[in-house]
Amino acid sequence: MVLSVLTLVSCSDDNNNSSGEKTGILKGKVTTINTHKAVGGALVFTFDNDNNIYHTYTNVTGDFELDAPVGDREVYIQTGDGSNFRTKIDVVVQENQTQQLEESLLRLDQVARIAYVSGNYDSIEDIITSLGYVAESITFSQLSDYSIVSQYDIIFLNCGSISGAISSNPTVTNNLANFVTNGGSLYASDWSVAYLIGGGSNTTACNAAGGFIPDTTLCSVDNGNSETLTASITNTALANAIGLSTLDIEYDLGSWQKIVSVDETFWEVLVRDSTTNEALMIKTNNFYDSSLAGNPVGSPENSDWITICHQPDDNSSNPITITVAASSWPAHEAHGDTLGSCTSSGTGGTIYYTTFHNHANENIGNAQFILEHVILNL
Ligand SMILES: [Zn+2]
Repeated sequence: MVLSVLTLVSCSDDNNNSSGEKTGILKGKVTTINTHKAVGGALVFTFDNDNNIYHTYTNVTGDFELDAPVGDREVYIQTGDGSNFRTKIDVVVQENQTQQLEESLLRLDQVARIAYVSGNYDSIEDIITSLGYVAESITFSQLSDYSIVSQYDIIFLNCGSISGAISSNPTVTNNLANFVTNGGSLYASDWSVAYLIGGGSNTTACNAAGGFIPDTTLCSVDNGNSETLTASITNTALANAIGLSTLDIEYDLGSWQKIVSVDETFWEVLVRDSTTNEALMIKTNNFYDSSLAGNPVGSPENSDWITICHQPDDNSSNPITITVAASSWPAHEAHGDTLGSCTSSGTGGTIYYTTFHNHANENIGNAQFILEHVILNL
């Protein structure tokens, strides 16, 4: 197996302000809530009095160093778009001083209410638990009840969780479309691709009946064999967060879903087979059905928070997705920010799909780090 550890990319502050604002350095390590695993790729940011953002990302060991404006500051730690996992602390930043923040202050909190549907040969819930977070079990038939579905921010659809055929459960399909349109996020693995693009308990051909994602964007067929593939991580943020650019992925069973074709204007490919270039893991923020908008989902803890696309004032770097107190919206709107994440259509949530998945009661090697990252970045 070839492991390569990437050099850490530190993101420079987008505010190289000409006013020469006085700053100090904040250092610390971000970890998961109870099990204290390092969280790589977390966004750490604060604002000056004019709402200019100062930000950086944690490296693979969870460590960060943030150049921050002096004074009383709220420091935010967020993964994904910040709507599901985030922490906020108050810090007094001293001019030209380096301050080591206590690790106990920097644990990543779960804001999301998370559900999973049990499957076969797959148990993403074990990885959620190993990170110290909480997921509630719901049944396949409960997906037919939008009053249940809409209570959650994230739903994990394990492989093998579909009872019967997805094509005979249009209510489930419609509820998932509704959920994602209104900001809910989904993770599906292997056979669970059928929830997205239709089929039976899995998907055996392109253009299968059912599902809510346009068939033109994805075709997957369950003709994969038991084998170990060498995979390349093609998404830089993912590679930096977990400190790997290649890894071996073991497909331990005899009937895996292969991705036959994928529209890369709708889906981003994050992991590929190093030999064939075939997509092994994909993600989208592009699903949004305006006819289903206006049916809010998720934890009430999020009701006073909004996810926005923040525009750096000096235009020296790309816009950045953050979640902030709703009361701060007028200040952000004033410098051109927009509601919703920088990459999503409307208010739509995120969908991750992996052809591989956790093996129940078995070590999955470095694929574990990818799945941990997915959980924290939905
Ligand atoms: Zn802003």
